[in-house]
Amino acid sequence: MEAKVLNGKELSTKIKEELKLEVDELKKSNINPGLAVIIVGNDPASRVYVNSKKKACAEIGMESFEYALDENTSEEALIDLIHKLNKDEKVSGILVQLPLPKHIDEEKVIFAIDPSKDVDAFHPVNVGKLMTGNPDFLPCTPAGIMELIKESGIDISGKECVVVGRSNIVGKPMAMLLLSKNGTVTVCHSRTADIEEVCKRADILVVAVGKPEFIKGSSVKPGAVVIDVGINRLENKKLVGDVEYESASCVASAITPVPGGVGPMTIAMLMKNTVKAARLQAK
Ligand code: NDP
Repeated sequence: MEAKVLNGKELSTKIKEELKLEVDELKKSNINPGLAVIIVGNDPASRVYVNSKKKACAEIGMESFEYALDENTSEEALIDLIHKLNKDEKVSGILVQLPLPKHIDEEKVIFAIDPSKDVDAFHPVNVGKLMTGNPDFLPCTPAGIMELIKESGIDISGKECVVVGRSNIVGKPMAMLLLSKNGTVTVCHSRTADIEEVCKRADILVVAVGKPEFIKGSSVKPGAVVIDVGINRLENKKLVGDVEYESASCVASAITPVPGGVGPMTIAMLMKNTVKAARLQAK
């Protein structure tokens, strides 16, 4: 049986419609959420992401302020800008599009963002709050994945959850969120001895590796929910995930497509965090 397609585009549209109503309400109380988006350099993929984020802001009736900085911008100048935005009342959330040019220390930059405006939830304060189970903001990609899992109808509690990839942005926080919903979580990485065997145990399989079609249907347990985080552009320009969709969708009970799965959900969650930041700051 073909797997149910977990349509992130549709679900994100629904979430953004709800957020638009919330923004309209907030505006009536003179609370105007706004997102500052900083991009350094000319990376084409980063430009696409920034444009999508600005478009989503417009869709929910929220202001966005773009700061497009030159590739050679110094770390100091970038951090100065962040300090300025930390104090700017019109700015509820600050997003620094990653990756940054090599001469800039990403960790220092993330650290400079006021945790109450850190809508990506990358600041150590927000990472710590997630670890201890009391987060203000959930990291956008894992939070979007949790919504997609909910959509699949599976109850995470007691299930075998396998996350492939252990990045700070996706893999590690994903594992924490699944754990917080009582999943039994295994995290795989480049040194994992037998990934296929581990993946085959998964009732819920989340793959964030950054390698085109890395996980095949033969590594998927029949009936599993498969979440494909990867975004890989092939030489023929085709966009594929980290999971081989054709083979995996014949085995899984539900699966996310690429594009149109996790990607749009990440942006919807960024919007949700920014609206929440505005609400918290108004208190
Ligand atoms: P990173 O490169 O930061 O991390 C990749 C992870 O995969 C690492 O933990 C690495 O292990 C692991 N890995 C690499 N090779 C193997 C292997 N052969 N076997 C097992 N594990 C391996 O990537 P990200 O987490 O930032 O992103 C992953 C993918 O998700 C990318 O395609 C990215 O474009 C996409 N992405 C999509 C988003 C969306 O909104 N849809 C958002 C963010 C990312 P180790 O730690 O041992 O090196």
